[in-house]
Amino acid sequence: MSKDTVQDGQVVSMEYTLRVDGEVLDSSDGVGPLQFLAGYDNIVPGLEREMIGMKLGESKDVVVSPEDGYGEFEDEAFMEVPRTEFPADMELEEGVELNVTDEDGKNQYARIESITDETVRLDFNHPLAGAELHFNVKVVALRDPTKEELEHGHVHEEGHHH
Ligand code: ZN
Repeated sequence: MSKDTVQDGQVVSMEYTLRVDGEVLDSSDGVGPLQFLAGYDNIVPGLEREMIGMKLGESKDVVVSPEDGYGEFEDEAFMEVPRTEFPADMELEEGVELNVTDEDGKNQYARIESITDETVRLDFNHPLAGAELHFNVKVVALRDPTKEELEHGHVHEEGHHH
């Protein structure tokens, strides 16, 4: 396949705008294009699928359903945690976003939904769970990944290595 077409295993630079319900939530404007390694789940599946085959310089509107985006909103994705499990000096407030480490040592995003005297109710839904994502994307550059990037399954941007 030609080098000017998005395909798995390539580093894609894209300019993008993300809208939900007509409101711009995220954009590469001002911060520069986002790079991702195609075929390695670096971006939401519904967007990646639509971008495969796009040509260099091409732009496209892509609508991604929740199941191909950040998931459906799940009523079960809540947990009540005793207040005593939080550090005493931690400010607990509704809407505060946290990184919670679960029993397997995995980092999980959570948001404080409500607080009582005894418990804190956490919402583990992604902030964009249940949302239909409206992307406008433009492919601005394509390149082969380095060996290391391919091994890691993600892009190493300058000054940002992990
Ligand atoms: Zn890496």
